[in-house]
This record gives sequence, structure tokens and C-alpha cells, in this order.
Amino acid sequence: MSMDQGEVVDVVLVGGGIVSATLASILGQLMPDKSIRVYERLESVAIESSQVMNNAGTGHAANCELNYTPEKPDGSIDIAKALSINEAFEVSLQLWSHLVEAGALPAPSEFLNPIPHLSFVWGENDVRFLRTRHARLGGHPMFQDMRITEDDAEMAEWMPLVMEDRPRGAPLATTRVDRGTDIDFGVLARLLFDGMQRRADFSLHVKHHVKGLQRSPEGGWRVTVQDREARQAREVRARFVFLGAGGGALPLLQKSGIPESRGYGGFPVSGHWLVCTNPDIIARHRAKVYGKAAVGAPPMSVPHLDTRIWKGRPALLFGPYAGFTTKYLKQGSFLDLPRSLTFDNLRPMLAVARDNTSLTRYLVSQVLQSPEQRLGSLRQFMPTARMEDWRLEVAGQRVQIIKPDPKRGGKLEFGTEVVASADGTLAALLGASPGASTCAATMFELVQRCFPDRAGTADFQAALRRMIPSTGHSLSIEPDVLRTVRDRNNAVLGLRSA
Ligand SMILES: Cc1cc2nc3c(=O)[nH]c(=O)nc-3n(C[C@H](O)[C@H](O)[C@H](O)COP(=O)(O)OP(=O)(O)OC[C@H]3O[C@@H](n4cnc5c(N)ncnc54)[C@H](O)[C@@H]3O)c2cc1C
Repeated sequence: MSMDQGEVVDVVLVGGGIVSATLASILGQLMPDKSIRVYERLESVAIESSQVMNNAGTGHAANCELNYTPEKPDGSIDIAKALSINEAFEVSLQLWSHLVEAGALPAPSEFLNPIPHLSFVWGENDVRFLRTRHARLGGHPMFQDMRITEDDAEMAEWMPLVMEDRPRGAPLATTRVDRGTDIDFGVLARLLFDGMQRRADFSLHVKHHVKGLQRSPEGGWRVTVQDREARQAREVRARFVFLGAGGGALPLLQKSGIPESRGYGGFPVSGHWLVCTNPDIIARHRAKVYGKAAVGAPPMSVPHLDTRIWKGRPALLFGPYAGFTTKYLKQGSFLDLPRSLTFDNLRPMLAVARDNTSLTRYLVSQVLQSPEQRLGSLRQFMPTARMEDWRLEVAGQRVQIIKPDPKRGGKLEFGTEVVASADGTLAALLGASPGASTCAATMFELVQRCFPDRAGTADFQAALRRMIPSTGHSLSIEPDVLRTVRDRNNAVLGLRSA
């Protein structure tokens, strides 16, 4: 295969999912003079994790996800993570509001729909947990619209499928936040890229696989890109490279050889949904109902019965059922995991294997589940469920972060993390959750960290405040700013409060 000497650009974004699309839009607004190239290995953008069926589309704002409010040993509830996720999601809403107003995004209903977010629990311990959580969160301005009920009739009104023919006995409780969302991150990514196509020095190349990168003697990076159709490789030089390759980010980060990448590894978790095929059932549910994770389950495997809006039509899914594979991308290779083992990350990987036996047991039990067992889990949420109304679909792939830990040798993390070179010329986003919902806040931070000269200018800061009016404020401690920001987001994006 021949190698072309390629062009010189300011920015290369690897991967065409929601994260690269978000970063491209932010750069397009804040630094319109930058030349940007996006390379996506598949035939279209956003058909890996960001594709609508591959994720749950929940606009994670900590309204219903019980794993964001862990219970402390003394029985109290820690709400710090819920506050920071809610604030980060409000940054995403501000970005989308700005882009809609600027005409860079079309009507929000093309990618975002208001859907109530509910948490549903059963059994004395979990009901007590939900009451304490509601008392803590409901007292905070961010969650003051959260309602709770233990009344069967009200629960039946909120989620008829969940209450129909439910055996009596165990106590039940449900919280509800009306200002919840369902988001099609695949459509959103495509719309964001469409908005960028109108810019002068931007181009998106599908079927282009980034094979590797190395530091350029002139500064920045030499990126090797293979055109999969022409079967030709070329080199592109860039001052800044972002590895927004989802599960493909870790192998490229390792190839970069930056010292900051040492010791990182990845733990892939696959997933399945049950997708409802009966329109009469779909029509009877309009909520995202999240439960509590089983013992040993990773936090992102919290089961939920979930209204989705796909191409303008409601859909209903239940899951995810976790699974194990050695692939880092749904359209990846079984060699992804073994190939990512290095001298540096072997110890952290082995330490995680040693310390997470309950997770391993959980994953094995999920993989070995029979269709009847899957139906059993669904029936905990929907007692009248029948197998003939549901089909099994493969969800997207998540790669959880494994990193060195001085005490235990290695630890497994369930969030996302930006790993960047000290000189700010390379950055990668690792991990998956809360992922798409909060990636705008992460990308704003990344831009300020990797382009410090520009970020320090008054023009940049003014443009930033126009895009994200809450810049410089803390929404969790400034209720007036929170109200103003939410009123505007509600008006532009068609969201509603209780
Ligand atoms: C089961 C499941 C449920 C989820 N639920 C939610 C949810 O409810 N809410 C939420 O906010 N998030 C959710 N997420 C997380 C969310 O889907 C991800 O955080 C988000 O889609 C990641 O976007 P991305 O752009 O980083 O990755 P992707 O969408 O995977 O995009 C990465 C792209 O990079 C490309 N690529 C990889 N390697 C290369 C290479 N070498 N060269 C060129 N291109 C390359 C890939 O083909 C891919 O298109 C869920 C994820 C899963 C798996």
C-alpha cells in the first residue's frame, strides 16, 4: 500500500461519534479559523455507541439513576455526583439551545424529546433508600420538582404497565421528575456534523481508518490515515489531535506513547436489550423507569423500562442485560482486549481481575441467562410481559477504564476521563458513562486545557459566555442562575417542569 504525503491542518478528530461531533461544533463556534478534519473508519458517522439502538438515549441528569446517589455506611445519601451530573447536563442543554438559536441545529424535536424520568423500587430497604434520597435531593433547587409516591393508584397512573397485575406484598415507591429527556445521540451527531459542513475549512472523511500517530519533529502529530476504499494510506500533520474513537481510543492512545497513557487498560462490557414489538404495549408507557442495580452488577447495568423516540415514533425497550466480549467496539475485533495488554497495564489489569470477582460472577450469570430468565427480569418491572411481544437486540459496547492504583495495583472506573499530553497537543476520552449526555462540559474543559493561549483571550471568553451563559457560575449553589438557564433551555428545547 502506498503512502501519500498529506496536508497540514490545525485539528484532527478521530472518530465520528457524538463526542467528536460535539467537540467539532464547539471548536467551530469558538475558533472558527481552525482547519478541522474528522476521520471515521465506518461507512457513516454515529453508527457505533452513539447510534440510537446502541445506547439508552437517557439525557443523564441524575433524575432517576440511583447509582449517582450512593448510600453511605451511616445510611445517609451522598448527592455530590448527582449535582455535578445535573450541572454538566445543563451545559449540554445550553450548547444545544445556542446552536438551535444560531441556526446550526434544526428543531430540537429531531433529536430530543421530553420524557418523565422515574425511579421505581420495591422492598423495605430500597423504599427507605428512595425516601431518604428524595428528602436529600428534593431539598435542593436542582431537584425541587422531584415528586415521590407510595400510593398504588398514583403509581398506576405514572406507569400503568409496571403496576398492572403486580402481586401485592412488598412495599413500593416511585419518584418522578417531569423535566426528563430522551435523546437520539446518533441523529444529534449527524446534525452537528451537517452544521459543520457549511464551514470553509472543515471536512469529514468516512471509511477512513486512523492506523497510528507519532510526534512530528515540527511539533504536533503525524497521523496515519488509511482510506479503506482507495486502499491508500496518507499522513496528515496536525497541531492538535483528539481521539474520540470510543472503544478505539485506548489502542490509539497507547500507540501515541505519551507518558500520561501509561498503565491504562480497558474492560469491555457488552449489552442486550429486549425491544417491544407490540404497538399496543408501546402506546401504554411513556416514561423512563429506572430500578436499582443487582448486587455485583456494574452501575451501568441498572435495569430500566424505557420509552424511546426513534425517527419520531415511540419505542419501548428493557435492559440492558450485560455480557462479556473481548471486542472494544461493536464492529471491532475479538483481538482488541488481548492486543491492548502491555507491560505497563498488565499489573492494573490483573489487580482488577483479582478484586472484582463479584462483577465477574455477575457477568458470567448474565451471559448464561436463558430467555426465561431474561423474561423473569422484565417481569419484575412489567408483571404481564410475554416473550412473544419482545425481541432481543445487541446494544453498544462500553469499555470501562482500568488504571494504576498505588494501593491495590489497579482499579476499575465506571465514569469517563480525559487523558491529555502535558503539552496539550493530544487528548483522548476514555470510558463510557454518563458519556454522551455530559460530553459537552467535558469538551469545553478540554478546549480550555489544550488551547490555553486562545482560552485566555477576552474574545474567547466572551464567545464562551454567549454559548454557555452559566460560564463562571455554579448552578448547584446559585439558584437564580439555575432558574435563568433552565427557563431559557425549557423555552428553546421544549422541555417542561412539573
Ligand atoms: C448499552 C449502552 C447504553 C448507554 N446509554 C446511555 C444513555 O442512556 N445516555 C448517555 O448519555 N450515554 C449512554 N451510553 C454511552 C454513550 O453511548 C457513549 O458515551 C457515546 O455514544 C460515546 O460516543 P463516542 O463518540 O465517544 O463513541 P462512538 O459513538 O462509539 O464513536 C466512536 C467512533 O470512532 C470510530 N473509530 C474507532 N476507532 C477508529 C479509528 N482507529 N479510526 C477512525 N475511526 C475510529 C468508531 O467507528 C466510532 O464511529 C450508553 C452506552 C451503551 C453501550
